[in-house]
Amino acid sequence: MAVTLPIYMDNHATTPVDPRVLEAMLPYFTGKFGNAASRNHSFGWSAEEAVENARQQVASLINATSKEIIFTSGATESDNLMIKGIAEMFREKGNHIITQAIEHKAVLDTCKNLEKHGFEVTYLPVQRDGRVSLEDLKAAIKPTTILITIMYANNEIGVINPIAEIGKIAKERGIFLAVDGVQAVGKIPVDVQKDNIDVLAISAHKIYGPKGVGALYVRRRNPRVQLSAIIDGGGHERGMRSGTLNVPGIVGLGKACEIAQKGMPEESVKMLGLRERLRKGLEAKLDEVFINGSMEHRLPNNLNMSFAYVEGESLLMGINDIAVSSGSACTSATLEPSYVLKALGVGEDLAHTSIRFGLGRFNTQEEVDYVIDKMVQVVTKLRELSPLYEMAKEGIDISKMKWQTA
Ligand SMILES: *Cc1c(COP(=O)(O)O)cnc(C)c1O
Repeated sequence: MAVTLPIYMDNHATTPVDPRVLEAMLPYFTGKFGNAASRNHSFGWSAEEAVENARQQVASLINATSKEIIFTSGATESDNLMIKGIAEMFREKGNHIITQAIEHKAVLDTCKNLEKHGFEVTYLPVQRDGRVSLEDLKAAIKPTTILITIMYANNEIGVINPIAEIGKIAKERGIFLAVDGVQAVGKIPVDVQKDNIDVLAISAHKIYGPKGVGALYVRRRNPRVQLSAIIDGGGHERGMRSGTLNVPGIVGLGKACEIAQKGMPEESVKMLGLRERLRKGLEAKLDEVFINGSMEHRLPNNLNMSFAYVEGESLLMGINDIAVSSGSACTSATLEPSYVLKALGVGEDLAHTSIRFGLGRFNTQEEVDYVIDKMVQVVTKLRELSPLYEMAKEGIDISKMKWQTA
């Protein structure tokens, strides 16, 4: 079977809407366009019913109850609301927050913002495999700690944190645990009860739902979590998030959760199969390739690999019919290596040549095989042009060489 180009393999950035999700959403743009807050007519009632059905679908996926789900504009808002909402509500109790170095910017920048408003934030380092150390976490806890916020799975390296263990530590000490669950929910089993998660951020467009809609799980029992709102208005969503609900988007998120829940056992096996085919294919045909982050504790759909002795930009240019992400971010004029890889201790050179492959529901074996062939072809060609690669092959230790400076 021939593949259609370009190939999309960047499913940690976003995913296409599943046709079943789109079909569920469509009636709510036109015939069933009511405002879910309209209490006086059937247009409002049917919108409200659809929203409540979606609430149930989201709750079911994470073993919550529907009253514990509130809808937002996406996980950036959910991350902001869970962190600022708890910080503000419980600031009398303490002003210390613990997070970690490789969180998504929606968490890191929210924490930085709170530092300007009298909060103290500890940014835990990560281990070489990209996971948080439980010993570091325990050591960072103080009498003033009110919140721990650590992501379930990382969006660049796919590494999964020991959330159940972290939840146990937080619960024993009466500290709230807020989790960015965006990359994990719908991909691996996430259970807010088992994991002792108090608040959990979810995004629709990372799980084959539409962009611009998300959810926040807010625990109601044992303990009941209260949040200060960050958006004021008509008191929607139990006062925690005002604003007319995005009914079609919410219906789409609900349907995406339902599909993910039903299909997870099969889909995770498929993802793992494709990922391992990709990894083994690349490792069999290329030397000097390095995997970033733990292979053991990793999402089934993620591979993050560095290709030594190639130039990152040339590599990306060479594979421009494949949509993937690189470990460099263009900030103004300079190419900055990813802060995530930096935190793992990956050197700048290898960070610049790293590629994040994010497999998804609609990828095929043929696509994976195309990607392997293309990567091998481009990397091999670039290395033919690399005197450093040649020297390394001849056994010269480049790190010990003295460079002539003019
Ligand atoms: C994509 C992503 C977000 C942001 O979600 P949006 O819905 O796009 O705002 C937050 N955290 C992680 C880990 C993500 O991958």
